[in-house]
Amino acid sequence: MNCPYCKKEMRPGWIQSRDALGWSEKKRAVPALAGLLAEVELLSATKAFYCPDCRKIVIDRDDMK
Ligand SMILES: [Zn+2]
Repeated sequence: MNCPYCKKEMRPGWIQSRDALGWSEKKRAVPALAGLLAEVELLSATKAFYCPDCRKIVIDRDDMK
């Protein structure tokens, strides 16, 4: 994927979190202990592209689990 700002090739990689990633227009409170309550803790990983020159990360919404 090419960077939408400088048009150079972006570096593929992953955004990882203990919980699923989500987008919203407003910040929401997130329970701090939610991950500890699950019997099996799965690590969520979303494919992302990073441009080190522009310091931007691009995520395709369809790749978010
Ligand atoms: Zn760029």
